[in-house]
Parts: sequence; structure tokens; C-alpha cells
Amino acid sequence: MIKKILKPFQEVLLQRKLCVGCTSQLDKADRIGILTKNSDLVECKCKRRYVFDRKLNQYRRASLQEDRQYIKNLKK
Ligand SMILES: [Zn+2]
Repeated sequence: MIKKILKPFQEVLLQRKLCVGCTSQLDKADRIGILTKNSDLVECKCKRRYVFDRKLNQYRRASLQEDRQYIKNLKK
């Protein structure tokens, strides 16, 4: 039982599709861009960015690299 409690809290929130910062629903967050064929970049109202994997139907934090890729695409 204790192990369950030790599971990273952020991971649990993401599994529930909630922002790790403000716990709002990521399904309602803004889809700000497309990263790849199967993933979208999503920005929460608190400005945290996530990657939504359409295949896995899952959210995860966007890496710095993905963030940069998005900015690069904006400038095109
Ligand atoms: Zn948030």
C-alpha cells in the first residue's frame, strides 16, 4: 500500500488527464500545435505545455526540445 502512495503525484495527475500545476482538465486545454502525426502540443491555461499522444490517449509534459520545435514551426 505504501508503494502506491509513493508513486509520483505528477504521474497520477497526468494519468487522469489533469495539469500537474493547476489540476485543470487537459482535455479542455488549448491545442496549440501539431508535433507529429500522432501527437499534439497542448497548453494549459497556466502556460504549462504538454504533449498529447493520440495513439496512447495520454498526456505527458512537453520536453524542452518539443517546445523549441513548436516555436520553430511558428516562425515558418
Ligand atoms: Zn495548468
